[in-house]
Amino acid sequence: MNILHHSRTLLADMAALLLPRTCPVCNERMVQGESFVCAACSAQWPHYPIKRIDDNMIVRRLWPSFPAVYGSTLFIYRHISPFHNILMRIKYQGYTQLAEELGRWGGRELQATALPEWTDILVPVPLSRMRQLKRGYNQAELIARGMARELDRPVERLLRRKGGRPSQTHLGAKERRANAQGIYTADIPNHLRGKHILLVDDVITTGATLIACATALLEADPTAEISVFTLASAS
Ligand SMILES: [Zn+2]
Repeated sequence: MNILHHSRTLLADMAALLLPRTCPVCNERMVQGESFVCAACSAQWPHYPIKRIDDNMIVRRLWPSFPAVYGSTLFIYRHISPFHNILMRIKYQGYTQLAEELGRWGGRELQATALPEWTDILVPVPLSRMRQLKRGYNQAELIARGMARELDRPVERLLRRKGGRPSQTHLGAKERRANAQGIYTADIPNHLRGKHILLVDDVITTGATLIACATALLEADPTAEISVFTLASAS
């Protein structure tokens, strides 16, 4: 082992001592060698069968509103599940690196499907300008950037979210859809028309946000094709 490598390892060990990493799911301290969640949580990871293209539950949730080509997610959670913590961390607690790492993982998983061949660009669901300023980052964009590194496709900010609408969190399915209608607008330059877009968000619940985004994209370019990927799906 050369000195440089040794001192780097030493530095990493010291940083780990000074800043102990905790598992974003169960809050237990993580040990070296564990990546984004601890070994115990990793063993219980609520996988979605990502490679499954036929009879896809994400697509089925969106189909009445728009013909998504393909949809997938990295994990399924219920509100009481500790895996819900991952979303809280990346949304509200500044776990930006975790969002990007999970995006990379999602990208690697998708490489086993036909999706990378179909997809031309990754488009994250945007936050309103006010919320992005307050939070300092958009978690959907971080996920998309992580995926882009694995899939070798560009991230394009084609969507805008108007401000001044209430949060979706406490609304029912019908209210969410009504609330989301017209929130998003898309601006697609000529060279990005007719592309297969992979729409990326942190979570799908009723699908209202993704439907509103897809509607805006298809209004701006009816020749676009759209697939979706979210980190999590609320079952
Ligand atoms: Zn854990």
